[in-house]
Amino acid sequence: MAEPRRPIDVCITIDAEYDINDSLEKPETHSPLGFSSMLRSDGERSQGLGFILDTLGGHGLPATFFVEVFCAHFFGTGEVRRMVDAIRAAGPHDLQLHAHPCWRYFRDPEWRRSVKTLIKNDSWAGRGDSALPMLREAIELFAAITGGPPQVFRSGNLQVDTAVHAALAQLGIPASSSVGLGLSMPESPALRRWLQPTRIDGVLEVPVAAYREPGLRGDRVKCLTITGTAWPVTRRLLDWAHRMQRGPLVILTHASEFATPAGACASENGRYRTDPLNQARLRALAAFLARERNRFNTTTFAAGLATWQATPPADAGQADDAVFVAPRLARLTRAVETAWTRLRP
Ligand SMILES: [Zn+2]
Repeated sequence: MAEPRRPIDVCITIDAEYDINDSLEKPETHSPLGFSSMLRSDGERSQGLGFILDTLGGHGLPATFFVEVFCAHFFGTGEVRRMVDAIRAAGPHDLQLHAHPCWRYFRDPEWRRSVKTLIKNDSWAGRGDSALPMLREAIELFAAITGGPPQVFRSGNLQVDTAVHAALAQLGIPASSSVGLGLSMPESPALRRWLQPTRIDGVLEVPVAAYREPGLRGDRVKCLTITGTAWPVTRRLLDWAHRMQRGPLVILTHASEFATPAGACASENGRYRTDPLNQARLRALAAFLARERNRFNTTTFAAGLATWQATPPADAGQADDAVFVAPRLARLTRAVETAWTRLRP
């Protein structure tokens, strides 16, 4: 008799970051936006962070928030702590480390002048030995903001190379979630993982789930995000992962996916307009995961890590990884879903 299928782990992850607001490109007229850019208020309620916390909280689902810390070079740690406090107040969510190197340009008080001539680099890949001190700086900021060290690191833009994992190992960070083939294809074949975790220098890399979407001009590689994946395709991917017993399945989203600036230009006091399509997708996902607890265990990195660490390590090859191929009509499904949401009153 076939072994009964067990529930697979699902992690909803939110890259919790403030809005750099084009200020490196337009330093004379633009400035970064802080906590208000996570809240994204429509004038009455928060349609960004508040919407996410209410939707997950309504179904008793936990999530992992990857908190971007280099923005503290512009705002100070207090402004970043406002978002951390709001997440902690909402429930048993998990806080882990996210960092975009581009915020480090704000260390220079004269940044409005100096960024005009700099060649900007927001990638963690290709840093070599300098990944180590930069990572140490990020961990220190995270500890100053949250009161403790992170267990998991997520690189900005999901750009990473094995030098980053070597640095994580040296600094005692046991895990990373910095791979997402739909966003960035790592140079090292060992990091090209669709969804199964792998180990690099002893650090467990748990990728953001990626899949293939067939199209007339060939397949597209996509990450499993709320804004990029139609709900029927997400549901099929979840069904597939359970059938194949593949997990943990990591989903990526951002507060910015659920509301966009109402005016032409975002500002600290500006209003935001809800994105009904993406909000409907997160609501559908949360309701589904709450209903299907016998098949899906919605968990956090902090809660799941020990189990994932104990699972026999994946080899550096691809044999144990597997890829979901979206139905041929996935692109059309997305278009129909968009049209349907726009038509509804
Ligand atoms: Zn980010």
